[in-house]
Amino acid sequence: MERIQNYIDGRLAAPVSGTYLDNVNPATGAVYSLIPDSDAADVEAAVGAAARAFPVWSLSSPAERFRIMNRIADLIEADLEAFALAETIDTGKPLSVSRSVDIPRAVANFRFFATAAMQFGSEAHPMAGQAINYTLRQPIGTVGCISPWNLPLYLFTWKIAPALATGNCIVSKPSEVTPMTAYLLAKVCIAAGLPAGVLNIVHGLGPKAGQAIVAHPGIKAISFTGGTNTGRHIAATTAPLFKKLSLELGGKNPNLVFADCDFDQALTGAVRAGFSNNGQICLCGSRLYVQRPIYEKFRDALVHRVAALKVGDPLAADTDLGALVSKPHFEKVLGYVALAREEGGRILCGGEPVQVPGAGGWFLSPAVIENLGADCRTVREEIFGPVLTLQPFDTEEEALELANGTEYGLAATVWTQDVSRAHRVAERLQNGIVWVNCWMLRDLRTPFGGVKNSGVGREGGWEAMRFFTEAKNVCVNWG
Ligand code: NAD
Repeated sequence: MERIQNYIDGRLAAPVSGTYLDNVNPATGAVYSLIPDSDAADVEAAVGAAARAFPVWSLSSPAERFRIMNRIADLIEADLEAFALAETIDTGKPLSVSRSVDIPRAVANFRFFATAAMQFGSEAHPMAGQAINYTLRQPIGTVGCISPWNLPLYLFTWKIAPALATGNCIVSKPSEVTPMTAYLLAKVCIAAGLPAGVLNIVHGLGPKAGQAIVAHPGIKAISFTGGTNTGRHIAATTAPLFKKLSLELGGKNPNLVFADCDFDQALTGAVRAGFSNNGQICLCGSRLYVQRPIYEKFRDALVHRVAALKVGDPLAADTDLGALVSKPHFEKVLGYVALAREEGGRILCGGEPVQVPGAGGWFLSPAVIENLGADCRTVREEIFGPVLTLQPFDTEEEALELANGTEYGLAATVWTQDVSRAHRVAERLQNGIVWVNCWMLRDLRTPFGGVKNSGVGREGGWEAMRFFTEAKNVCVNWG
């Protein structure tokens, strides 16, 4: 069976302990490869390699970083099919999605931040007749990048690319649930000629390998994407060490459909927002609120569309929804469907395990549930699965109250043809991202992140370039 390796100091390496964990294909339930069960010793080796690489990499020219990062992008693109297949086997998501969305986006992340390296500048603040201040934006040193399982290579590279572009060295950890594409990336980095130690990839469990990264005094900044509870723990660990921290955490995102919307556009958008990647995207619109004049018509059309989504083999071309990522996650989502019933929810469709012929894994039919009040746990807590709650509202004020009524604040979507309403509502929503008449339309230049329990800090564009640099003001007096 294939043994995934760590990538430390420019080489593929077995974990120091020699122990491995099972890597399971969620569509079949079968173990198909082994992951290093790394610990503090592997992290120590990675930190040492990064520190040795830093003096040269941090002084490399933007043109050199641009060249190597584009070379990495070229090599992923050249092997796109292998990356897509690896991601599908790790995650259970349809191959068509890995091929058309996730892997191309990883390529785009490298190209985008390669270009950013060439364009990144800084400011000068003249004090008339007396002095000039200028800002040096310098790489931090060794930074830690930790990512989740839902969009494995896409989110891993969303952190690594800006960290590389700004001249940092990296100790990273992909999710232990979906390690394979990061392993392929390690091989690509070797082939692309990335200098040894600039990027180190340590595989393993969060509380062991991940914890060793966040607690290591030689790692000066942590960029983390994952669950809110993990983020809280990381914040507590890193605070006494004064590490720079970016936390992209959970979401329970509202999707507001006003009666004056373009009905078909909103309907298509609500299905996409609710069920893309089986609802396993932090940005999914999992709370749908529809204004009362169109509520029943919208609900019936929605249920018709959702019930028609094909749950099936991730490798089949006509599959809309593949397997959920793991057995524990599948059981968690099923538990929330049961809780919704207890809370008085009316299940309009789905929420049942699906037997996919020839596949033994964890498939679930997509669920739409109404009649759950704002206080219900199923409406307040992140489920991160194919479960959409649906409620009517009367006024714009009520819509805002419902939308803002959770501890999360990542993304929100508004469907309306009234331009004044769109701006008014967008301003008052307590979210880091608001989409109007679209969902997950992404421009990599824009700030990305949440408020409240959805995190602190922003990724994307110059925000990411600034996060991975320290600003130093130099004041030169000539007066
Ligand atoms: P998770 O928090 O369980 O794990 C995320 C990563 O953190 C994994 O690599 C894990 O091994 C590691 N980890 C766990 N404990 C750790 C510790 N003590 N120290 C250091 N690292 C540790 O999250 P998950 O289940 O992999 O991902 C799903 C969650 O991620 C959802 O809540 C989802 O909303 C969130 N997410 C957020 C965004 C965003 O941009 N805001 C994007 C995608 C996913």
